[in-house]
Amino acid sequence: MAAKIIDGKLISSQIKDELKEKTALLKEKGITVTLAVILVGEDPASQVYVRNKKRACEYIGYNSLSYELPAETSQEELLKLIAELNSRKDVDGILVQMPLPGHIDEKTVIDAIDPSKDVDGFHPMNVGALCIGEKGFVSCTPAGVIQLLKRGCENFDIAGKECVIVGRSNIVGKPMALLMLRENATVTIAHSKTKNLEEVCKRADILIAAVGKAGVITADHVKDGAVVIDVGINRNEEGKLCGDVRYDEVAGKAYAITPVPGGVGPMTIAMLMNNCYEAALMHMNQ
Ligand code: NDP
Repeated sequence: MAAKIIDGKLISSQIKDELKEKTALLKEKGITVTLAVILVGEDPASQVYVRNKKRACEYIGYNSLSYELPAETSQEELLKLIAELNSRKDVDGILVQMPLPGHIDEKTVIDAIDPSKDVDGFHPMNVGALCIGEKGFVSCTPAGVIQLLKRGCENFDIAGKECVIVGRSNIVGKPMALLMLRENATVTIAHSKTKNLEEVCKRADILIAAVGKAGVITADHVKDGAVVIDVGINRNEEGKLCGDVRYDEVAGKAYAITPVPGGVGPMTIAMLMNNCYEAALMHMNQ
């Protein structure tokens, strides 16, 4: 039987529509959610991401403040802007678009953002909160994967399932593992040094690929009836967008699968928008 396709476009639209309704209610109370977006330099991919984030703000009814700084901006100038945004009562979320130009240290910049405005969930305080099961902002892509599993796979309970995550980056693999643990899955993290990757992946009821290599996950890595989530965004030899998973062969084996594009990708912005809303609620009660 062909796998169920988990539709990230649809689920992300549902989340944005829910936020739109809740945001209108906040507006009635005189509260506007505000996201400040900082872009340093003119990287075309980053410009597209920033534009999409601003559009999502507009759609939901958030106010977005845009800071487009030249590539030569010094680290000091950037930190000064962040300090100003940290102290502004009308700003709920601060997003610095990565990657930054080489002369700016990304860790120093992330550490400078007020954790209560760190809607990307990259600040060590938020990462630590996730690790010890406290409330905090969660990295948007892994948070989006949880929503795909909960909303896109009816009658499927994460608790007790074997979950294998391929990839251990700070923004996807590691927070993904912590979130799956929070959902009571039994979690394995695989990476480039993992021996017998096929065998390890085949244990998975839920297989999450976050590698960044086209087609690295084949049908031989997948157990019959597994749920397969493809976080990877790559270009194949023809320049076409594709994931880490060989979709055509795996779809014949899996119970459910996310496509690329249209799977995990759209969820990242939806979860960023959700974090902005949560930030506004937090600031409202302060
Ligand atoms: P990183 O390059 O930071 O991490 C890749 C991970 O994959 C590393 O842990 C690496 O292992 C592991 N890896 C590399 N090669 C292999 C292999 N052959 N077998 C097993 N593991 C391997 O990438 P990111 O986590 O930032 O991103 C991963 C993918 O997800 C990319 O395609 C990226 O574009 C995409 N992405 C998509 C998003 C979305 O919105 N959908 C958001 C963020 C990322 P090791 O640690 O040992 O080097």
